[in-house]
Amino acid sequence: MSVADEWTAEGAAKPPVAETTDVLVLGAGPAGMAAATEARAHGMRVLVLDENGAPGGQVHRAVEARLAKGAVEKRDAKDDQDKDGAKLAAAFRASGANYRPNATLWAVEPEGKVFWSEGGAARSIQAERLILCAGATERPLPIPGWTLPGVMSVGAAQIALKTGGLVPEGAVWLAGQGPLLWLYAVQALAKGGKIAGIIDLSPPGGLQRARPHLLRALKAPEYLWRGLVWQRQVKRTVRVIPARELRAEGEGRLARILVDGVAHPADLLLLHDGVVPNTQVTRAIAGLTHGWDPVQRCWRPGLDLWGNTAVPGVMVAGDSAGIGGARAAALSGRIAALEAARALGRITTDERDGRAGPLRLLRDRQLAPRLFLDAMFPPLPEAAIPDETILCRCEEVTAGRVRQAVALGCLGANQTKAFTRAGMGPCQGRICGPSVHGVIAAARGVEGGEVDPFRTRFPTKPLTLGELAALAG
Ligand SMILES: Cc1cc2nc3c(=O)[nH]c(=O)nc-3n(C[C@H](O)[C@H](O)[C@H](O)COP(=O)(O)OP(=O)(O)OC[C@H]3O[C@@H](n4cnc5c(N)ncnc54)[C@H](O)[C@@H]3O)c2cc1C
Repeated sequence: MSVADEWTAEGAAKPPVAETTDVLVLGAGPAGMAAATEARAHGMRVLVLDENGAPGGQVHRAVEARLAKGAVEKRDAKDDQDKDGAKLAAAFRASGANYRPNATLWAVEPEGKVFWSEGGAARSIQAERLILCAGATERPLPIPGWTLPGVMSVGAAQIALKTGGLVPEGAVWLAGQGPLLWLYAVQALAKGGKIAGIIDLSPPGGLQRARPHLLRALKAPEYLWRGLVWQRQVKRTVRVIPARELRAEGEGRLARILVDGVAHPADLLLLHDGVVPNTQVTRAIAGLTHGWDPVQRCWRPGLDLWGNTAVPGVMVAGDSAGIGGARAAALSGRIAALEAARALGRITTDERDGRAGPLRLLRDRQLAPRLFLDAMFPPLPEAAIPDETILCRCEEVTAGRVRQAVALGCLGANQTKAFTRAGMGPCQGRICGPSVHGVIAAARGVEGGEVDPFRTRFPTKPLTLGELAALAG
C-alpha cells in the first residue's frame, strides 16, 4: 500500500500539513486533479484543497462513489465523462499529493500564503506556486418568482442526482438554455425521472449565428453529435415549448409557471442559462487583472499561454480561466503544472515546451467547438428582466432598484452595492454578480467591460470566529 493509499483509505487519518509546499492546487476537479498529478510526477510537494468531500469537481462529482456502487463500470463505462473521471481520480489518488477534501480556501496573501478552513479550524501554508482551478458557477437566470420554494437551478438538481441518485417528482419543468440543461434532462430521464416540459428560452436564430463557426467546431465533432443526440432523445418523450417570457407563481411555494402568459401547473422548476468562470478568489487577489469576454459576457483572469496571471507565482487553469469543458480543463491543468515545474527548476524550458506541445494540440481540438456553442447559446439579455424580479436573493434587491441606482448615477457594481445592498449578503455576490452587472450595463447602454464587477474581499467564504481562532494556536 502506498502512502497515498494509506491516507485515502476509509477512516485513515489525513497526512499532516507542512508549513510550506512547492505547489498549492485549489480544486480537485479535472483541472486540479490533472495539475496535481503532473506536478507530483516532477517531484514537487503538492497540497490540494477542495471544499467537496471527494475528488471530481462538478463534472465528475462523486464518480468514485458511483464506481464503487457499480453505477459506472470501470472498463466498459458507456459514459465517456465517467470514464475520464475515474481515470483522472485514480491517477490523482495514486500521485501522493496531499489532498484535503472538505477544505475551503478563503484567503491568499501576497507572496503565496494561503488560508483555508478544514474540520472547523482555520489553517495556513506558504506556497511557492498556486494553481487555482476553482471551476465554473451557473449564470443565474432571474425570473419573477424564482425565489419561491420549488424553484432551483439545473446544476443544483444535477448535484442531487450525482451525489444521491435523486430524481425530481411531480410536475417538473426545465427552463432556459445551454448544453447542461439538455444533459441533465437526459440524465434524469435515464434514472426514471419524469419531465413535464422544457421551456426553451434560447434566443431564436441560434443555428444561423453559429454556422460561421461550424467548420472549426467539426474538429471535435463528438460535441455537436452528442448535443444532437441529447436533444433528439429528450424530445421523444418531453415537449419543448419555445418561449420569450417565464414567470413562477404560487402562494408560499411554486404552484404554476406562466409561459408567455399561459399557465401550467408546476411542482418544480429548474432554471439554467449556461456557466461562467468562478473568479471569486482571483478577483480578491491584489494586482490580478481580469478581462471582459464579450461573447460569454463574463470576466476571466488575464493569463499568458501557460496560465500565469499578472501576479508572480499565481496561475489559473480549467474553467475558472474561461469555459472550455472538462477535457480542456484537465489539459490546461497539466500545462500549468509543467510551467510550475519549470519555474521551480524541476525541468528545463525545453523540457516544458517539448512535453506541453502535444497537450496544447489536444487542448486546441477540445476548444474548437466553443465559438459555435457560444454563438448558439448567447447569455439571455438582462435588459429583458422585469423590474419586480429579485436579483440579489440575500438582500432581496430587485432589478428595478438596481436600475433606479443607475438612474441616480451609479456606474458600477460596487457603487450600486453601496446604494442598494445588492451583493452584500452571505454569498458576497457569487450568485447575483453576473445579473447585477448585466442589468447595470444594459441600463447604462454600455458593454459589460465598461462596468466594474463586484470587488471581492477575503475571506471570500463565510468564516466563524472559532475557525479563525485556531490560527492563533
Ligand atoms: C453546476 C455545474 C454542473 C456542471 N455539470 C457538468 C456536467 O455534467 N458535464 C460537463 O461536461 N460539464 C459540466 N459543468 C461544466 C464543468 O464544470 C466543467 O467543464 C469542468 O468540471 C471544469 O473542470 P474544472 O476542474 O475547471 O472545475 P470543477 O470541476 O468545477 O472543479 C472546481 C473545484 O474547485 C472547488 N473549489 C472552488 N472554490 C473553492 C474554494 N474556495 N475552496 C475549496 N474548493 C473550491 C470546487 O469544490 C470544485 O470541486 C458543470 C458546471 C457547473 C457550474
